[in-house]
Amino acid sequence: MSESVISSSAPTTSGPSGWNLENSYARLPTMLHEAFKPTPVKEPRMVVFNHALAEELGLNGAALAQQAAIFAGNELPEGAAPLAQAYAGHQYGNFTGLGDGRAILLGEQITPSGKRFDVQLKGSGPTPFSRRGDGRAALGPMLREYIISEAMHALGIPTTRSLAVVTTGEKVWRQEMLPGAVLTRIAASHIRVGTFEWAAAHGDQDALRALTDYTLRRHYPEHAGAEVPALALLQAVMERQSQLIAQWQCVGFIHGVMNTDNMALSGETIDYGPCAFMDAFDPATVFSSIDRNGRYAYGNQPQIAQWNLARLAEALLPLLHPDEKQAVEIANTAIEGFKTTFEGHWLAGMRAKLGLFTEEPTDRTLIESLLVWMREQKADFTNTFRALNPAEAVPPEEPAFAIWHVQWQARLKQQPQSAEEVAERMRAHNPAVIPRNHKVEEALAAAVESSDLSVMQRLLGVLTRPYEAGEEQAEYGMPSGLAPGAYQTFCGT
Ligand code: AMP
Ligand code: MG
Repeated sequence: MSESVISSSAPTTSGPSGWNLENSYARLPTMLHEAFKPTPVKEPRMVVFNHALAEELGLNGAALAQQAAIFAGNELPEGAAPLAQAYAGHQYGNFTGLGDGRAILLGEQITPSGKRFDVQLKGSGPTPFSRRGDGRAALGPMLREYIISEAMHALGIPTTRSLAVVTTGEKVWRQEMLPGAVLTRIAASHIRVGTFEWAAAHGDQDALRALTDYTLRRHYPEHAGAEVPALALLQAVMERQSQLIAQWQCVGFIHGVMNTDNMALSGETIDYGPCAFMDAFDPATVFSSIDRNGRYAYGNQPQIAQWNLARLAEALLPLLHPDEKQAVEIANTAIEGFKTTFEGHWLAGMRAKLGLFTEEPTDRTLIESLLVWMREQKADFTNTFRALNPAEAVPPEEPAFAIWHVQWQARLKQQPQSAEEVAERMRAHNPAVIPRNHKVEEALAAAVESSDLSVMQRLLGVLTRPYEAGEEQAEYGMPSGLAPGAYQTFCGT
C-alpha cells in the first residue's frame, strides 16, 4: 500500500458547514468495500443534534442542525464518497459473512486539529450486504445508542459517538410498526476484527496486508515502521482492548453482543445493541434477550475479548511468519499475554475506585473480598463504590462489611496521601450516575410514543456530568428496584 492512502497533510479547505471529508478507506482494495449511496427517505426531521460534538469535529452545528436531509442520507455533504464496508464476524462463536447491511460510510471528517473520524449513517437503507434485512433502524434503538454512547464518552471510556438522530417519516416493521430513524455515528474508524476475518477468509493476502498497514497508520502510527507490522498491530490492539474492557468492568457496563464484528481495532466501544449497565453486582448478569447461555455476561467479557483477539491473530497468521507453525506460536504467545495486561489495567482501575495511589500485593484480595460481599448482598455496583467515599456517605453497619472496612482503612494508612486526596480520587473514579435502565426506557418512551424529547434531554444533561454530586445526580442515581435479571434489552433493532 502506498503512503498516500492516508495523507499526512490534511486538506484544509472546508465549506460553510465545515465539512472537510477525506475518503482514504475508499482507496483500499475493493474487496473491502462497495461504493453505495444511502436510500432517500420520505420526510427527514431532526430529533437530536450533538452541538458539542459538531464543534469538536469542526462542523458548523448551528447550520447543520437545520439540515435533516443530510443526516437522513437524502443529500450528501460535499466531499462524501459513500460506501458500504465489507466484513465478516464470529456471531456467538459462529463464523459468517456480514458487511454494512444498514449503514453507509460517508467519508472521514478531518478536524481542525487534524484528527480523522468516520462519519457513518446507520439505518440509511439496504446495501449489497443487507441479506434479508430492510437496511433500516427504528427510532428507539437509535436514540438508545445516542444516550449510551454519549454517557460512555462522559465517563471517559473510549467509544464511537452520536452526532445526530433524524426520523425518516417512514415506518419500520419490528414485530410492530415503529418510527424509522437514522443515526449519524462518529468513530475513530469502523475497522473491526471482522474486517480482518473477511480479508483472511477470502485468502486475499494483499488486501490483508493493505488493511494491516492502513490500520497501523491510522490508529497506531507510532508502530507504522515495525519490523512485523501484523504483530505490532496485534499487540497494540490487545493493549487498547484490555484497557477498554477493564474500563467497562470498572463501571459495570455490559456490551451484550461481543461478536468479532462488534470489536473495533481502534479500541473504541462500538455497536450499542442490547447493552446496559449493571445495577446489583453479579458477574453472571446478562441483559440481551437472545444470550441464553450467558456467553456475553459481565464476568465473561475479559475472556471473550481475548477469544475475539485470538480470531484477529488467526486472520493475521499469514503476515506473522511465512512458516505457519511459527506464525501460530507467535500468535499464541501474544494472545496469552492478554490476561496479564487486562489484569494490570483492571487492578489499576479498581485501586483508583478505592482511593489507592500505591500498590500492595494484598490489594487484589482486598478488592475481591469487597466484590464477594457485594455479590452476596446484591449491592448496587455504582452506588456501593460511590458510598464508600467518606466524603459522600457513612459506611453501612453490616458485620461482614465492617470487617472489610477496617482492612481497607488500614490499607489507606499505608500510603502517604491525605484523606482529601483519597476522597478526590474516589470521586473522580466512581460515577454518581450511570444510564439507569428505567431512566433510559422512560426517556425513550416519551420520545417515541409522545414525541416528547424533554425527558431525554434532561437525562443527557445529567449523564454528561457523571462524576458530579448534586440533587439531579441523586435522583438519576437510584436503581429501579427491579429484581436483578428482570431487565432485558432486545436485538430487534
Ligand atoms: P449488529 O447485530 O447490529 O452488529 O449487526 C449484525 C449484522 O446485521 C450487520 O452486518 C448489520 O449490518 C446487519 N443488520 C442488522 N440489522 C439490519 C437491518 N435492519 N437490515 C440489514 N442489515 C442489518
Ligand atoms: Mg454490528
